[in-house]
Amino acid sequence: MILAIGFATYFNIAVRVDAASALARFDQLTAQLAPRRAAVHGERALRLLEKAGQDTEQLAPLMLRVADAQLERRRHQRAAMLLRDALATKSSDKLSNRKRAQYEDKLARASILSGDIETAVAIYASFLDLAGDDASRGGGENQTDISAYYAERVGDAARYFTEALNHARPYEPLSGAREAQLAAASNMASLGAFYAMRDDGAYAAAGLLSSAYLIRSKLLGNDHQDTVQLTLVLGPVYTGMGRLDDAERLYLEAFHAQEEIKGANSPDLSLYIKLLTGVYEKQGRYTEAQALQEHMRNLFRDAFGAQRYAANRERDRREDINRPVSQQFLLEAEYAPADLVSAAEYSIPTAKSPNIDEMKLRLAGDRDADPREANLPARLAQLISLCRSESGERISLRSGYRSYATQKVLYANIGSKGTVTPPGMSEHQTGLAADINVDNRFMRPSDRAYQCFEENAYRFGFILSYPPGNNYLPGEDPYEPWHWRYVGVSTAQLYREAGPHQKPQEFLAALPCYQERAASGVFPAIGEDDICLSAKSETKVAANEPERAQPASVEENTARILNKTPAARSPR
Ligand SMILES: [Zn+2]
Repeated sequence: MILAIGFATYFNIAVRVDAASALARFDQLTAQLAPRRAAVHGERALRLLEKAGQDTEQLAPLMLRVADAQLERRRHQRAAMLLRDALATKSSDKLSNRKRAQYEDKLARASILSGDIETAVAIYASFLDLAGDDASRGGGENQTDISAYYAERVGDAARYFTEALNHARPYEPLSGAREAQLAAASNMASLGAFYAMRDDGAYAAAGLLSSAYLIRSKLLGNDHQDTVQLTLVLGPVYTGMGRLDDAERLYLEAFHAQEEIKGANSPDLSLYIKLLTGVYEKQGRYTEAQALQEHMRNLFRDAFGAQRYAANRERDRREDINRPVSQQFLLEAEYAPADLVSAAEYSIPTAKSPNIDEMKLRLAGDRDADPREANLPARLAQLISLCRSESGERISLRSGYRSYATQKVLYANIGSKGTVTPPGMSEHQTGLAADINVDNRFMRPSDRAYQCFEENAYRFGFILSYPPGNNYLPGEDPYEPWHWRYVGVSTAQLYREAGPHQKPQEFLAALPCYQERAASGVFPAIGEDDICLSAKSETKVAANEPERAQPASVEENTARILNKTPAARSPR
């Protein structure tokens, strides 16, 4: 017994002495920048100290240092294991935020390089949250600022993801519960969307987004809204990289999924037709592109005939999405929308931290369709995706909802100099307006993205609120080419077809008159006064809108193109 205790004591002392010398060698070799040998002694010290009874809590600081040596040796798996265990201890709570971020960054990199994408994705997605506004600015402006530091780390990680995911096929997590896989897909989606906005991020974006797409289409189905949303971010990335076949496959899949749910004549298909058309044009397949364009025009004409306006009229009024707002039409201070949602949840790229109020928009969901997908943010996401694809420019939401109180503070600070209107005059208070950024500054008329908005915004329910020469806002030049407002698809279409030129607020104020006129199929002849704007609103009879004939050959052509099954080109 005594012998046993004596032996144990001796053994412990021996181990401790050995551990102390191993530790000393580790320190020495680390100082000499000899990581290969340092790592050997560091690992030995860890083993011996553990034998001597130290637990992970006590060993954590040494584990972090040994991990550094292992990283230098490119033993990524071992380094990741040490970092993960050490960072899970209570003693690591004492690390400063920046120090902790440094180790988490190392853990993420070691994980990517040893094939564990999910850990890395989870870490960088949390960095992205912490980076807030700095993520949109690209970080790095202020080195002392921790949020800029987070943004910079995420940015730098693009090349690791590029390296790890730079294969034609997406990364596929094999194990893990459904919930864990879906969580990984969300992280991949938000990181991928971030990289999609960067010049050097295309490969990382394509790898992450296609992986997220794979997970979601497998677990949720191709037709699930979360899967479809990814199409809108990933497609333009593919197009930008010249991966036109991949873009085509993706759009065809989305098209067929939507067709299945909504029927072959749904105007909702037009987005995918438009995106496909863009791909065909880039590939030089002009005949197919033209046939699709024609098909889309037919869909729209069918969907927005005069009867359709009448059916939508009551709904739009109930939704209160059509009220005019300007210095002529003021909003009450207490006016606040009840259905605000976060734009980022609908895959809208945001220029500021996705969690702040200003990055929210009204849902304004359609009542006669599925309001979860037929709504303002979903349509804005589609419009942005389309125009990003067409223009190649980076488009993001700069400003959405602003409360009366926020507007008041903003106006007090910026005053009449800037682009901020006094409270009560701003459409931002309705949650229906979106200020759009192109390449991280206000959208300009010279942007290709602007041309695309001009041409297509109405299809998604948006109009330009403050056109050139308006008197809606105080100040010298109230023209705001970046400010787009949702009025619903039918109203935007009506404004385009029958509304007064460049007078959106007057149009909204006289909306019932325009709706009556459209419902009765009566339109003023060219050169005639606009009866809805003149005070007397007796109905005048004018020429009916001429109907155009539908060429059958185009229909056939279109059917042939769209019926190519996407399954023929499997993603693997
Ligand atoms: Zn605005």
